[in-house]
Amino acid sequence: MDAPLSLHIKTFGCQMNVYDSGRMGEILKAQGMTYEERLGEADVILINTCSIRDKAEHKVLSLLGQLKPLKEKNPKRVIGVAGCVGQRIGRQLLQRVPHLDFVVGPDGIDHVGELVDGVVKRGERCVDAKLDTDGRSYSQPLLSTAPKVAEYITVMKGCDHFCTYCIVPFVRGREKSRSIQEIVGDVERLVAQGTKEVTFLGQNINTYGKGSAETLAQLIERTHEVRGLERIRYVTSHPRDMGMDLISQFGNLEKLCPALHLPFQSGSDAVLKRMSRLYTSAEYLKKIAALREACPDIALSADVIVGFPGETDEDFEQTMTVLSEVRFSLAFLFTYSPRPGTKAYELSDDVSREVKEERLARTMKLTMEIIEEENRKRIGGIESVLVESIDKKKGRYFFGRSLHNKIVHVLNAGPACVGKVIDVEVTEANGSNLKGYYVDAERIDRVASL
Ligand code: SF4
Repeated sequence: MDAPLSLHIKTFGCQMNVYDSGRMGEILKAQGMTYEERLGEADVILINTCSIRDKAEHKVLSLLGQLKPLKEKNPKRVIGVAGCVGQRIGRQLLQRVPHLDFVVGPDGIDHVGELVDGVVKRGERCVDAKLDTDGRSYSQPLLSTAPKVAEYITVMKGCDHFCTYCIVPFVRGREKSRSIQEIVGDVERLVAQGTKEVTFLGQNINTYGKGSAETLAQLIERTHEVRGLERIRYVTSHPRDMGMDLISQFGNLEKLCPALHLPFQSGSDAVLKRMSRLYTSAEYLKKIAALREACPDIALSADVIVGFPGETDEDFEQTMTVLSEVRFSLAFLFTYSPRPGTKAYELSDDVSREVKEERLARTMKLTMEIIEEENRKRIGGIESVLVESIDKKKGRYFFGRSLHNKIVHVLNAGPACVGKVIDVEVTEANGSNLKGYYVDAERIDRVASL
C-alpha cells in the first residue's frame, strides 16, 4: 500500500480564505492525506490566494516561481492554486507556469479532492474556476472535525456592491446565502464539541439572506438562542446596509460582542462617490453615533484607502478628521492599488507613490497613537477574556480575546483556562494588544515556569 500523501496549504488574504483553506484541508484529510508543516516536504502544495491588491498577487507569483525547483526535484509533487487569483487568471496561470498542476476558484473548493486525484492518478492538469451563478442560496455545511474555541463560519459569499476599486464581485460573484437552519445547525454541532464563540463571515454580511425572507438580524437572534454559545461576532459590514435592526441588537443581545468592523475607506464625499461607496461621510458618522447610542462601549474598527485617484490634500485631511473623531480601536490602512477589470482601473492613478506612502504613514501614526491611548485607559481594569490557546509564535503566554476583540495575553493562565471566559486584570498595554493576570489564579508569570 502506498504511503499517504502529505499536504501543505499556504494561505494569503482574508479570513474567508483562512476558512476556505480549512475546508480544503478537511476534504483532503478525509481522502487520507496527512498535514505537513514544512512546505518543501509536502507531496501536495496548495496555495490559497488573494487578489485584493497587486502586491498580494505578486507574492503568489513569486512563491510559484520558488516552487519550480521543488517540482523538478520530485515531479510527482502536486502544486495547486486556489482562491481569488485562481479565479481571476487561473487559465493564464496554468499556461504560464508549467509546474502548476491545477487551479481552483473559490466556488470550486469542494472539488479539491477530485482535482488532486485527477493529477495524481491520471496526470490531468486542470482549472475549475466556474462561478456559482445559480440563484441566491447555497448549501455548504461545516466539515470541521476538531473545532476550535473560537470558530469562523462563512454564511454567505459574493458581493453585489461593485465598489469601483474592488475585485471581489468579479472573483467571488453575486451575493448568495446559506439558510439560517443550516448555519444554526453548524453552530449547535460546534458548541457541542466545545466552541464558545462564532464569527460569521460574509463580504457584505449585512445583506445576508438577500432574495429570501431571512435577514442577518434573524440569524443573530436564532444563534443567540444556542445554549452553551457565549459570543457572537460578524464581519464585514457595509455602512449603507447597517440598518437599525442590526444596530439596536448591540444594546439588546448579551452574546453579541460589542465590537464592529465598519469600513469607511475615505472621509471625503468626493472620493467616496468615485469609489461608489453609496454613503457620505456625514451618513457614516451618523451610523457611528447610532451604534454608540445603542452600545456606548462598542469598539469600532475600519478599513481605509489612501491615495485613491483624484484624492487631494483636502480629501485626505477629511479622512484624518474621521480617524480622529471616531477613534477606532483598530484600522486596516492601505494605499490604493489599481486592479485590472475594476472601474477605478480606468481612472488615472494620479497620486504619486511618495504621496500615498506619506499619507499612509500619517494615518498609521494617528491610528496607533489613538489605539495606544485607549489601551492605556484599560490598564487596571478587568477584561472578560475567552482563552483560545497558547501563543504559538511566542510559545509562552496563553491568549484570548476580550469582548472588544482585543488580543489579551494572560500571564498566569494555564491549559485549564482554554475554552473558558475568565476575568483578567490588565497590567500592560503593548501596541494594539493587552497583557494581564487572571484574577482567580496565583499571580505567577508562567514564562518563568515554562
Ligand atoms: S462592499 Fe466590500 S466586497 Fe463589496 S465591492 Fe465594496 S469593498 Fe468589495
